[in-house]
Amino acid sequence: MAGEAQPDCLFCKIAAGEIPATVVRETDTTLAFRDINPQAPTHVLVIPRVHYPNAAELAAGDPGAAADVLREAGEVAAREKVDGSGYRIVFNTGSGAGQTVFHAHAHVLGGRDLQRLV
Ligand code: IMP
Repeated sequence: MAGEAQPDCLFCKIAAGEIPATVVRETDTTLAFRDINPQAPTHVLVIPRVHYPNAAELAAGDPGAAADVLREAGEVAAREKVDGSGYRIVFNTGSGAGQTVFHAHAHVLGGRDLQRLV
């Protein structure tokens, strides 16, 4: 069922505390933790506690949780003090775009010069 925890989902397990993570912030609806393979001095993942396979499906199925993820991404950037210099929020969507974990998540990247992408 949409939104329910999936037994084989890595990020559902992190959200449930079954797999350790370096947690930066948490709310009733979201969890933010450091990426295990950081691509920038600040590289934090923000996930909804509910399971949807990608950001678009999250926004369609649970718009409140999608908004919470975006708000928390901004909070993480402020707490990490990268909001002044600039940061990037990335939602890889689909394996062709590099998505490897199919539980919606925002990458929050900052602390280095970020090349303009588009
Ligand atoms: P995606 O490629 O956009 O799906 O992003 C998945 C991210 O999860 C990658 O940047 C991985 O480095 C990261 N990742 C994978 N396993 C873990 C973990 O156990 N803890 C924290 N980050 C992880």
